[in-house]
Amino acid sequence: MVEMARSLRERAAAEVGKLCREIGARHGEVQKLEEKIAALARKSRARRSQLALELDEYRRGEFCSGCGKTRSQILSEGSTFPHSGQSIVRATAEQLAAKERSAAAELSRLSADQDAAAQRRDELVSENTQTLAQVKEGLNLWKSARTIELNALASEQAEKFAAEKKKTRELEAKLETITGEFDSEIGRTKPDLEVLGALASTWKLWDGVLKQVVSEGDAQYKAYLQDLTDTKKTQ
Ligand SMILES: [Zn+2]
Repeated sequence: MVEMARSLRERAAAEVGKLCREIGARHGEVQKLEEKIAALARKSRARRSQLALELDEYRRGEFCSGCGKTRSQILSEGSTFPHSGQSIVRATAEQLAAKERSAAAELSRLSADQDAAAQRRDELVSENTQTLAQVKEGLNLWKSARTIELNALASEQAEKFAAEKKKTRELEAKLETITGEFDSEIGRTKPDLEVLGALASTWKLWDGVLKQVVSEGDAQYKAYLQDLTDTKKTQ
């Protein structure tokens, strides 16, 4: 019973440890995704206002006939607007529509990236919630196994104590009988020395056995206390 409960407790502890490492790894990934989502949101906001400005310039015809870049784009690159040899042109309806499409496509790509990252993050968070429930189950199992183990240790020890006590009593009774026989032999007018010698050596033999039983019991009890300490230590 002790061994069974102990191996159950150890397996539960290993499982909880494994699940906790999984939670930690997912949590790290969630944090990275949060950073990515925030960075994408910042980029999205910046691009949105930048693109709005470029579109506005496009609508007002403020772009270079050579490269199609707008005034603010070219100025931000440190060039002169328009590029030399080029003229400022008015956008055709097609050009404006193309520029609007490409701006919308860029923003929608950023938003899709953000959504994908958020979806992955939500999956990981929900996986961690499930794993946490498994950790709670594992801890409950661990606690039960530990209680069973401690109880089994105590009852095993109680049985050993009882067995030791019984053996000790039997041996003490034997020794008492031998002592009685020895006394009555000595009480005779002519005590038989051979009988006395045999009784003495039998007494010595059983006394040795008794000492052995007591010292084994002590060792057993010490081992029990150590087991108890080891089991209680694993909190
Ligand atoms: Zn140009």
